[in-house]
Amino acid sequence: MNDKLERMKELVEVINYHNYNYYSLDNPTISDAEWDKLYDELLSLESETGIILANSPSKRVGGEILSSFKKYNHEVNLYSLEKCNTYDRLKDWAEDIKKKNADAKFFVEYKYDGLTVSLTYENGVLINGATRGNGSVGEDVTEQVKTIRTVPLTIDYKGKVIVQGEAIMKLSELAKYNKNATEPLKNARNAAAGAVRNLDPKVTASRNLDVIFYSVNYIDNTDIKNQVEIYNFLKQNKFNVIDKWQLCSSYEEIEDAVKAIDDLRGSLDFLIDGAVIKVNDIAERKLYGYTAKFPKWAIAFKYAAEEMSTKLNSITWQVGRTGKITPIAEIEPVELAGATIKRATLNNYNDILRKKIKLNDYVFVRRSNEVIPEILGVARETEDSMPIQKIEYCPSCGAKLVEIGANLFCVNTYHCPEQIKDRITHYASRDAMNLVGISDKTVAQLYSVLSVTNIADLYKLTAEDLSKLEGFKSKKITNLLDAIKKSKDVELSQFIYSLGISNIGKKSAKLLAKEFKTFDNFKNATIEQINNIFAFGDVMSESIVEYFKNLNNVSIIDKLFESGVKIKEYKSSNSQKLSSLVFVLTGTLPTLSREEATKIIEDNGGSVSSSVSKKTDFVLLGENAGNKLDKAKSLGIKTISEAELLKMVS
Ligand SMILES: [Zn+2]
Repeated sequence: MNDKLERMKELVEVINYHNYNYYSLDNPTISDAEWDKLYDELLSLESETGIILANSPSKRVGGEILSSFKKYNHEVNLYSLEKCNTYDRLKDWAEDIKKKNADAKFFVEYKYDGLTVSLTYENGVLINGATRGNGSVGEDVTEQVKTIRTVPLTIDYKGKVIVQGEAIMKLSELAKYNKNATEPLKNARNAAAGAVRNLDPKVTASRNLDVIFYSVNYIDNTDIKNQVEIYNFLKQNKFNVIDKWQLCSSYEEIEDAVKAIDDLRGSLDFLIDGAVIKVNDIAERKLYGYTAKFPKWAIAFKYAAEEMSTKLNSITWQVGRTGKITPIAEIEPVELAGATIKRATLNNYNDILRKKIKLNDYVFVRRSNEVIPEILGVARETEDSMPIQKIEYCPSCGAKLVEIGANLFCVNTYHCPEQIKDRITHYASRDAMNLVGISDKTVAQLYSVLSVTNIADLYKLTAEDLSKLEGFKSKKITNLLDAIKKSKDVELSQFIYSLGISNIGKKSAKLLAKEFKTFDNFKNATIEQINNIFAFGDVMSESIVEYFKNLNNVSIIDKLFESGVKIKEYKSSNSQKLSSLVFVLTGTLPTLSREEATKIIEDNGGSVSSSVSKKTDFVLLGENAGNKLDKAKSLGIKTISEAELLKMVS
């Protein structure tokens, strides 16, 4: 019996260790299969002995369904913050603080957009979890939060402590959930709130939520003196924290930090809707006190909305280069994240059905910097709501559409005008062959006036041909012909991407080039060989093999080679001189272009990031550097010149 108990303790510790790495640090330290094996062993020991340890991960599956939520009186009130959305107000606030203490330091962190929860631990064990409610009375959701993998059931600290965090659903989890759900969730915030405030803890467990912690509201130990130390305490006790805060001494630094967060929020896997700025020193906060509603020592800056509801006016069916038909929603224009949005994607007809979207409905639209605007779901119906009819014929060429999986396709591949044009536009795009000067508008002219119907035709164009196009004067013609000529020397990965094979994006093309080294190897690869590449699955492999089975594709590629397109020899990046170093580029470099500098860094095992953070190792500095330099200085990050970079890799 004792042996079994010892083994259970061991298993719980090992599994919790891996869970922490996996869920909180995003750094898996074990394969899923290995994890399953450990977990199964633990489950069988638990059923054998009838004992479940307090911190056992098996407690996270969710227990009994509750009949109603119990009210919970917070021992320490959870205050709400004053919200502002102008930098003027933020500046006034910071100046008021500075008037009382010129040396005040400000702590700037993300403002998470989820459901606020407060957790109480005693003797190192989680004894209560509650929602914020009105700040003094919330709901007891202990059973629910216990199912959340990033909520520690036990912690090292043995005194009493009340911590605050935000229950969130990662956007990747939301996408995963919605892929198979009969009732898709409309957005990550509602999904998180609905899961925590669900009487059935099994529902909470099934949503794969996380809690991100950022505050200690009570602790019976006064060693913690400031917000930085709060984060350290949370980390030491293995709470899930996002370590992306900044300490600022002046208003200018605060503004930079708040703007930097706004810049990167589109790339985060969870929703934030602003930044929170607090006076760092806890004792000093008393100096500023409270208004009737808010503490005066903290403020929340809210960014422009990324999600709104608006009316769906009509649907346009768009034909892509692979023949896939995408329904595009034409909506009543809305302001989202600083841009006016008039159209948003609905992905495919199945998506419309699943989301139960109808014409004239009010729908939720979401846009972030890096993602195309998307319709999330119905906000509310109107009297005029009516079903969206599935189309049967291609809006571009009139061919009967074919249903493959969730999508409709026009299979009139070589005679469908939209497909032809979109393939050429893709081929010319910056990340593909980079044919500067060929926009989708130019492609439309090339198609209608010069009968360019495939990418090989581009290489036959003459100055005389181009002079027939409206708006084409001698300079424009020369530039375009130069760009086409320049594209004849091309990297393998670029060329693979340019072909526009279904399901093969930029990153996949790079991996394929690395794996197969020559175009011939790639062209002749089998499904098994392609599947050997990490992150590749059957859908991608089959797309490639199918592509080369098509003799039309092969003949067009042959024509490209006949016109002089040459693929450069693939050079493997054996050098790991910059292995795992993160660079940020700013300003104009003396000899290298940005693309060239990026290539040198990546070829040597380093990576390039667009914004400066604590994770940045070096800022590569050119002339006229912008505020990235100031940011690097404030974070104490080393700057290097182009010459120094070249020395590092030589
Ligand atoms: Zn068509």
